[in-house]
Amino acid sequence: MLEQLAHIGRDPKTGGYVRDAWSAADLELREWFAGEAGRRGLALREDPNGNLWAWWGTPSPERPGVVTGSHLDSVRQGGAYDGPLGVVSAFAALDLLRERGVTPAVPVGVACFSDEEGARFGVPCVGSRLLTGVLPPERALALTDDDGDTLADVLKRAGREPGGLGRDDGTLAAVGTFVELHVEQGRGLVGEGRPVGVAGAIWPHGRWRFDFHGRADHAGTTRLADRDDPMLPLARMVLAAREAAERRGVVATVGKVRVSPGNANAIPGEVAAWLDARGADEEAVRALVAELSEGAQVREESWTPVVTFDPALRDRIARAAGGDTPAPILPTGAGHDAGILAAAGVPSAMLFVRNPTGVSHSPGEHAERADCEAGVVALADVLEELCR
Ligand SMILES: [Zn+2]
Repeated sequence: MLEQLAHIGRDPKTGGYVRDAWSAADLELREWFAGEAGRRGLALREDPNGNLWAWWGTPSPERPGVVTGSHLDSVRQGGAYDGPLGVVSAFAALDLLRERGVTPAVPVGVACFSDEEGARFGVPCVGSRLLTGVLPPERALALTDDDGDTLADVLKRAGREPGGLGRDDGTLAAVGTFVELHVEQGRGLVGEGRPVGVAGAIWPHGRWRFDFHGRADHAGTTRLADRDDPMLPLARMVLAAREAAERRGVVATVGKVRVSPGNANAIPGEVAAWLDARGADEEAVRALVAELSEGAQVREESWTPVVTFDPALRDRIARAAGGDTPAPILPTGAGHDAGILAAAGVPSAMLFVRNPTGVSHSPGEHAERADCEAGVVALADVLEELCR
Protein backbone atom coordinates (compact mmCIF):
# COMPACT_ATOMS: atom_id res chain seq x y z
CA MET A 1 0.00 0.00 0.00
CA LEU A 2 2.84 2.43 0.79
CA GLU A 3 4.22 1.68 -2.68
CA GLN A 4 0.84 2.58 -4.21
CA LEU A 5 1.08 5.98 -2.52
CA ALA A 6 4.76 6.55 -3.26
CA HIS A 7 4.24 8.72 -6.36
CA ILE A 8 1.41 10.92 -5.04
CA GLY A 9 2.51 14.49 -4.31
CA ARG A 10 6.19 13.59 -4.60
CA ASP A 11 8.59 16.35 -5.60
CA PRO A 12 10.89 14.66 -8.15
CA LYS A 13 13.72 17.11 -7.38
CA THR A 14 13.94 16.45 -3.64
CA GLY A 15 12.09 13.18 -3.13
CA GLY A 16 10.01 15.00 -0.52
CA TYR A 17 6.21 14.99 -0.36
CA VAL A 18 3.93 18.00 -0.75
CA ARG A 19 0.42 16.90 0.15
CA ASP A 20 -1.43 20.04 1.19
CA ALA A 21 -5.01 19.63 2.39
CA TRP A 22 -7.49 19.70 -0.49
CA SER A 23 -4.74 19.86 -3.15
CA ALA A 24 -4.82 17.54 -6.17
CA ALA A 25 -2.50 15.18 -4.26
CA ASP A 26 -4.81 15.15 -1.24
CA LEU A 27 -7.84 14.43 -3.42
CA GLU A 28 -5.96 11.55 -5.05
CA LEU A 29 -5.08 10.18 -1.60
CA ARG A 30 -8.73 10.42 -0.58
CA GLU A 31 -9.67 8.46 -3.73
CA TRP A 32 -7.13 5.83 -2.78
CA PHE A 33 -8.65 5.57 0.72
CA ALA A 34 -12.11 5.15 -0.78
CA GLY A 35 -10.78 2.41 -3.06
CA GLU A 36 -9.18 0.49 -0.17
CA ALA A 37 -12.40 0.77 1.84
CA GLY A 38 -14.45 -0.46 -1.12
CA ARG A 39 -12.11 -3.38 -1.84
CA ARG A 40 -12.65 -4.60 1.74
CA GLY A 41 -16.41 -4.09 1.71
CA LEU A 42 -16.18 -1.32 4.33
CA ALA A 43 -18.84 1.40 4.45
CA LEU A 44 -17.19 4.70 3.48
CA ARG A 45 -18.29 8.01 4.89
CA GLU A 46 -16.87 11.53 4.65
CA ASP A 47 -18.06 13.55 7.62
CA PRO A 48 -19.01 17.24 7.21
CA ASN A 49 -15.49 18.27 8.34
CA GLY A 50 -13.81 16.26 5.59
CA ASN A 51 -12.60 13.35 7.74
CA LEU A 52 -12.92 9.91 6.14
CA TRP A 53 -14.30 6.85 7.93
CA ALA A 54 -14.37 3.26 6.67
CA TRP A 55 -16.48 0.98 8.83
CA TRP A 56 -16.50 -2.78 9.31
CA GLY A 57 -19.87 -3.08 11.04
CA THR A 58 -22.27 -0.25 11.78
CA PRO A 59 -21.52 1.90 14.83
CA SER A 60 -24.20 3.58 16.89
CA PRO A 61 -24.13 5.66 20.08
CA GLU A 62 -25.15 2.52 21.98
CA ARG A 63 -22.50 0.44 20.24
CA PRO A 64 -19.55 2.72 19.38
CA GLY A 65 -16.61 1.28 17.51
CA VAL A 66 -12.89 0.79 17.92
CA VAL A 67 -11.28 3.16 15.43
CA THR A 68 -7.73 3.26 14.12
CA GLY A 69 -6.06 5.41 11.48
CA SER A 70 -4.15 8.65 11.04
CA HIS A 71 -3.83 11.18 8.20
CA LEU A 72 -2.66 11.26 4.58
CA ASP A 73 -1.66 14.92 4.15
CA SER A 74 1.97 15.94 4.73
CA VAL A 75 4.10 18.88 5.69
CA ARG A 76 5.77 20.48 2.66
CA GLN A 77 8.78 18.39 1.67
CA GLY A 78 7.78 15.75 4.21
CA GLY A 79 8.48 12.03 4.34
CA ALA A 80 6.51 9.01 3.22
CA TYR A 81 5.58 7.66 6.67
CA ASP A 82 4.21 10.48 8.83
CA GLY A 83 0.48 9.86 8.53
CA PRO A 84 0.27 7.27 5.73
CA LEU A 85 1.94 4.59 7.87
CA GLY A 86 -0.96 4.82 10.32
CA VAL A 87 -3.65 4.63 7.61
CA VAL A 88 -1.95 1.81 5.72
CA SER A 89 -1.31 -0.11 8.95
CA ALA A 90 -4.97 0.32 9.90
CA PHE A 91 -6.14 -1.38 6.71
CA ALA A 92 -3.43 -4.05 7.04
CA ALA A 93 -4.35 -4.75 10.69
CA LEU A 94 -8.00 -5.11 9.70
CA ASP A 95 -6.93 -7.62 7.02
CA LEU A 96 -4.96 -9.49 9.66
CA LEU A 97 -7.97 -9.64 12.01
CA ARG A 98 -10.02 -11.16 9.20
CA GLU A 99 -7.26 -13.65 8.38
CA ARG A 100 -7.24 -14.66 12.04
CA GLY A 101 -10.99 -15.22 11.82
CA VAL A 102 -11.74 -12.60 14.48
CA THR A 103 -15.40 -11.62 14.74
CA PRO A 104 -15.34 -8.23 16.49
CA ALA A 105 -17.99 -7.67 19.15
CA VAL A 106 -18.07 -3.96 18.20
CA PRO A 107 -17.63 -2.22 14.82
CA VAL A 108 -14.08 -1.52 13.69
CA GLY A 109 -13.36 1.73 11.86
CA VAL A 110 -10.46 3.09 9.81
CA ALA A 111 -10.15 6.87 9.93
CA CYS A 112 -8.26 9.41 7.85
CA PHE A 113 -8.31 12.87 9.43
CA SER A 114 -8.38 15.94 7.23
CA ASP A 115 -5.52 18.48 7.22
CA GLU A 116 -3.53 17.15 10.17
CA GLU A 117 -0.31 19.00 9.39
CA GLY A 118 -1.75 22.43 8.75
CA ALA A 119 0.79 22.95 5.95
CA ARG A 120 -1.59 25.02 3.86
CA PHE A 121 -3.56 27.11 6.37
CA GLY A 122 -1.17 27.21 9.32
CA VAL A 123 -3.43 25.44 11.86
CA PRO A 124 -2.74 21.75 12.55
CA CYS A 125 -5.34 19.01 13.10
CA VAL A 126 -8.10 21.05 11.42
CA GLY A 127 -10.30 17.98 10.79
CA SER A 128 -10.20 16.65 14.34
CA ARG A 129 -10.36 20.14 15.93
CA LEU A 130 -13.50 20.94 13.94
CA LEU A 131 -15.00 17.55 14.74
CA THR A 132 -14.47 18.04 18.49
CA GLY A 133 -15.46 21.69 18.44
CA VAL A 134 -12.18 23.20 19.63
CA LEU A 135 -11.77 25.08 16.34
CA PRO A 136 -14.81 27.27 15.63
CA PRO A 137 -16.01 26.85 12.02
CA GLU A 138 -16.03 30.63 11.39
CA ARG A 139 -12.35 30.76 12.27
CA ALA A 140 -11.50 27.73 10.14
CA LEU A 141 -13.37 29.01 7.09
CA ALA A 142 -11.53 32.34 7.22
CA LEU A 143 -8.03 30.78 7.29
CA THR A 144 -6.08 31.71 4.15
CA ASP A 145 -3.38 29.90 2.22
CA ASP A 146 -0.35 31.44 0.48
CA ASP A 147 -2.47 32.28 -2.59
CA GLY A 148 -4.96 34.21 -0.46
CA ASP A 149 -7.66 31.56 -0.86
CA THR A 150 -9.74 30.87 2.23
CA LEU A 151 -10.56 27.36 3.43
CA ALA A 152 -14.14 28.14 2.38
CA ASP A 153 -12.99 28.87 -1.22
CA VAL A 154 -10.85 25.75 -1.30
CA LEU A 155 -13.64 23.50 0.04
CA LYS A 156 -16.11 24.84 -2.53
CA ARG A 157 -13.62 24.21 -5.31
CA ALA A 158 -13.23 20.61 -4.06
CA GLY A 159 -17.01 20.18 -4.28
CA ARG A 160 -17.53 20.28 -0.50
CA GLU A 161 -20.13 22.22 1.47
CA PRO A 162 -18.36 24.69 3.82
CA GLY A 163 -21.63 25.31 5.69
CA GLY A 164 -21.45 21.84 7.26
CA LEU A 165 -18.27 22.48 9.25
CA GLY A 166 -18.31 22.32 13.04
CA ARG A 167 -18.63 20.11 16.10
CA ASP A 168 -20.19 16.81 15.10
CA ASP A 169 -21.50 14.85 18.07
CA GLY A 170 -23.03 12.15 15.88
CA THR A 171 -19.70 11.24 14.30
CA LEU A 172 -17.86 11.50 17.64
CA ALA A 173 -20.37 9.22 19.36
CA ALA A 174 -19.43 6.43 16.94
CA VAL A 175 -15.86 6.43 18.25
CA GLY A 176 -15.64 4.34 21.42
CA THR A 177 -11.84 4.13 21.38
CA PHE A 178 -9.25 5.57 19.02
CA VAL A 179 -5.79 4.11 18.44
CA GLU A 180 -3.38 5.93 16.12
CA LEU A 181 -0.25 4.23 14.84
CA HIS A 182 2.50 6.65 13.83
CA VAL A 183 6.15 6.57 12.80
CA GLU A 184 8.21 7.71 15.79
CA GLN A 185 9.55 11.25 15.43
CA GLY A 186 12.60 10.71 17.55
CA ARG A 187 14.95 7.90 18.53
CA GLY A 188 13.34 6.61 21.71
CA LEU A 189 12.69 3.14 20.29
CA VAL A 190 16.22 2.93 18.88
CA GLY A 191 17.45 3.41 22.44
CA GLU A 192 15.00 0.80 23.74
CA GLY A 193 15.95 -1.69 21.00
CA ARG A 194 12.24 -2.27 20.28
CA PRO A 195 10.27 -1.91 17.02
CA VAL A 196 7.01 -0.70 18.62
CA GLY A 197 6.21 1.60 21.53
CA VAL A 198 3.22 3.33 23.12
CA ALA A 199 2.67 7.06 23.71
CA GLY A 200 2.55 8.29 27.30
CA ALA A 201 1.88 12.00 26.77
CA ILE A 202 2.01 14.72 24.13
CA TRP A 203 3.82 17.90 25.12
CA PRO A 204 1.80 21.10 25.22
CA HIS A 205 2.43 22.98 21.98
CA GLY A 206 1.25 25.91 19.92
CA ARG A 207 1.77 28.17 16.92
CA TRP A 208 1.88 31.95 16.95
CA ARG A 209 1.91 34.38 14.04
CA PHE A 210 4.14 37.44 14.35
CA ASP A 211 3.55 40.42 12.04
CA PHE A 212 6.27 43.00 11.51
CA HIS A 213 5.43 46.19 9.63
CA GLY A 214 7.90 48.48 7.92
CA ARG A 215 8.17 50.48 4.72
CA ALA A 216 9.10 48.96 1.36
CA ASP A 217 11.86 50.87 -0.34
CA HIS A 218 14.81 50.64 -2.73
CA ALA A 219 17.71 48.47 -1.52
CA GLY A 220 20.30 50.72 -3.16
CA THR A 221 19.13 54.29 -2.85
CA THR A 222 17.64 54.29 0.68
CA ARG A 223 20.16 55.36 3.32
CA LEU A 224 20.41 52.96 6.29
CA ALA A 225 19.30 55.70 8.64
CA ASP A 226 16.13 56.28 6.62
CA ARG A 227 15.00 52.67 6.55
CA ASP A 228 12.11 51.02 8.35
CA ASP A 229 13.07 47.40 7.70
CA PRO A 230 10.74 44.77 9.29
CA MET A 231 13.35 42.07 8.66
CA LEU A 232 15.42 43.36 11.58
CA PRO A 233 12.85 42.78 14.36
CA LEU A 234 12.19 39.37 12.80
CA ALA A 235 15.89 38.53 13.02
CA ARG A 236 15.98 39.64 16.65
CA MET A 237 12.88 37.55 17.42
CA VAL A 238 14.38 34.40 15.84
CA LEU A 239 17.58 34.72 17.87
CA ALA A 240 15.67 35.58 21.04
CA ALA A 241 13.45 32.50 20.55
CA ARG A 242 16.48 30.23 20.41
CA GLU A 243 18.09 31.85 23.43
CA ALA A 244 14.87 31.76 25.48
CA ALA A 245 14.19 28.14 24.52
CA GLU A 246 17.62 27.09 25.76
CA ARG A 247 17.18 29.05 28.96
CA ARG A 248 13.69 27.65 29.65
CA GLY A 249 14.33 24.03 28.62
CA VAL A 250 11.78 23.97 25.77
CA VAL A 251 12.01 24.03 21.96
CA ALA A 252 11.09 26.94 19.70
CA THR A 253 11.20 27.14 15.92
CA VAL A 254 10.57 29.76 13.27
CA GLY A 255 10.06 27.57 10.21
CA LYS A 256 7.89 29.74 8.03
CA VAL A 257 8.32 33.36 7.01
CA ARG A 258 6.33 35.36 4.49
CA VAL A 259 8.16 38.40 3.17
CA SER A 260 6.30 41.00 1.19
CA PRO A 261 6.81 42.07 -1.52
CA GLY A 262 9.71 39.59 -1.58
CA ASN A 263 12.17 41.26 -3.95
CA ALA A 264 15.89 40.61 -3.62
CA ASN A 265 16.60 44.29 -4.33
CA ALA A 266 13.99 45.86 -2.07
CA ILE A 267 13.57 46.49 1.64
CA PRO A 268 10.46 44.53 2.60
CA GLY A 269 7.31 46.30 3.68
CA GLU A 270 5.75 43.47 5.68
CA VAL A 271 7.06 40.28 7.24
CA ALA A 272 4.95 37.53 8.80
CA ALA A 273 6.63 34.72 10.72
CA TRP A 274 5.30 31.66 12.51
CA LEU A 275 6.69 30.53 15.85
CA ASP A 276 6.18 26.93 16.97
CA ALA A 277 6.94 26.33 20.65
CA ARG A 278 6.67 23.15 22.72
CA GLY A 279 7.98 21.57 25.85
CA ALA A 280 7.21 19.23 28.72
CA ASP A 281 6.41 22.24 30.95
CA GLU A 282 3.41 24.29 29.85
CA GLU A 283 4.40 27.27 32.03
CA ALA A 284 7.81 27.41 30.39
CA VAL A 285 6.31 27.41 26.88
CA ARG A 286 3.83 30.13 27.85
CA ALA A 287 6.59 32.23 29.44
CA LEU A 288 8.74 31.97 26.31
CA VAL A 289 5.92 33.18 24.10
CA ALA A 290 5.06 36.01 26.51
CA GLU A 291 8.70 37.10 26.50
CA LEU A 292 8.90 37.18 22.69
CA SER A 293 5.50 38.87 22.35
CA GLU A 294 6.54 42.00 24.24
CA GLY A 295 5.98 44.95 21.93
CA ALA A 296 5.23 42.70 18.94
CA GLN A 297 1.99 42.06 17.07
CA VAL A 298 1.24 38.40 17.81
CA ARG A 299 -1.74 36.16 17.24
CA GLU A 300 -2.10 32.69 18.73
CA GLU A 301 -3.17 30.39 15.90
CA SER A 302 -3.34 27.21 17.91
CA TRP A 303 -2.68 25.94 21.40
CA THR A 304 -2.90 22.38 22.67
CA PRO A 305 -2.40 21.77 26.40
CA VAL A 306 -0.52 18.70 27.58
CA VAL A 307 -2.31 15.48 26.65
CA THR A 308 -1.79 12.54 28.94
CA PHE A 309 -3.26 9.42 27.41
CA ASP A 310 -5.60 7.35 29.59
CA PRO A 311 -3.11 5.37 31.74
CA ALA A 312 -5.29 2.23 32.00
CA LEU A 313 -5.82 2.10 28.22
CA ARG A 314 -2.14 2.91 27.65
CA ASP A 315 -0.99 0.03 29.85
CA ARG A 316 -3.52 -2.38 28.36
CA ILE A 317 -2.26 -1.45 24.89
CA ALA A 318 1.38 -1.71 25.92
CA ARG A 319 0.69 -5.28 27.09
CA ALA A 320 -1.31 -6.20 23.97
CA ALA A 321 1.28 -4.68 21.62
CA GLY A 322 4.40 -5.94 23.35
CA GLY A 323 4.28 -9.70 23.01
CA ASP A 324 6.20 -11.13 26.00
CA THR A 325 7.37 -7.79 27.46
CA PRO A 326 5.06 -4.74 27.46
CA ALA A 327 5.92 -2.17 24.80
CA PRO A 328 7.93 0.80 26.12
CA ILE A 329 6.08 4.04 26.88
CA LEU A 330 7.43 7.22 25.27
CA PRO A 331 6.60 10.93 25.54
CA THR A 332 6.38 12.95 22.32
CA GLY A 333 6.84 16.53 21.26
CA ALA A 334 4.63 16.07 18.20
CA GLY A 335 0.90 16.81 18.08
CA HIS A 336 -1.53 14.24 16.68
CA ASP A 337 -5.24 13.76 16.05
CA ALA A 338 -5.19 11.15 18.83
CA GLY A 339 -4.24 13.98 21.20
CA ILE A 340 -7.14 16.13 20.02
CA LEU A 341 -9.60 13.24 20.50
CA ALA A 342 -8.12 12.39 23.92
CA ALA A 343 -8.53 16.02 25.02
CA ALA A 344 -12.18 15.81 23.90
CA GLY A 345 -12.76 12.84 26.17
CA VAL A 346 -12.48 9.99 23.65
CA PRO A 347 -10.37 7.18 25.16
CA SER A 348 -7.33 7.31 22.85
CA ALA A 349 -3.89 5.81 22.54
CA MET A 350 -0.95 5.77 20.17
CA LEU A 351 1.52 3.21 18.90
CA PHE A 352 4.90 4.32 17.56
CA VAL A 353 6.99 2.44 15.01
CA ARG A 354 10.78 2.73 15.24
CA ASN A 355 12.46 5.35 13.07
CA PRO A 356 16.18 4.49 12.71
CA THR A 357 17.41 8.09 12.38
CA GLY A 358 14.58 9.78 14.26
CA VAL A 359 14.31 12.24 11.34
CA SER A 360 10.75 13.33 10.52
CA HIS A 361 9.00 16.07 8.54
CA SER A 362 11.74 15.53 5.96
CA PRO A 363 12.35 13.19 3.02
CA GLY A 364 14.89 11.37 5.23
CA GLU A 365 12.07 9.96 7.42
CA HIS A 366 12.20 6.16 7.35
CA ALA A 367 10.98 2.95 8.93
CA GLU A 368 12.28 -0.52 8.10
CA ARG A 369 9.86 -2.90 6.43
CA ALA A 370 10.21 -5.44 9.25
CA ASP A 371 9.36 -2.74 11.83
CA CYS A 372 6.31 -1.63 9.82
CA GLU A 373 5.16 -5.24 9.78
CA ALA A 374 5.74 -5.52 13.54
CA GLY A 375 3.62 -2.38 13.86
CA VAL A 376 0.76 -3.97 11.92
CA VAL A 377 0.88 -7.11 14.08
CA ALA A 378 0.94 -5.01 17.26
CA LEU A 379 -1.97 -2.89 16.03
CA ALA A 380 -3.96 -6.02 15.13
CA ASP A 381 -3.25 -7.46 18.59
CA VAL A 382 -4.44 -4.21 20.17
CA LEU A 383 -7.62 -4.09 18.06
CA GLU A 384 -8.35 -7.73 18.85
CA GLU A 385 -8.00 -6.95 22.56
CA LEU A 386 -10.19 -3.83 22.32
CA CYS A 387 -12.98 -5.28 20.17
CA ARG A 388 -13.55 -8.42 22.19
ZN1 LIG B 1 1.50 12.75 11.60
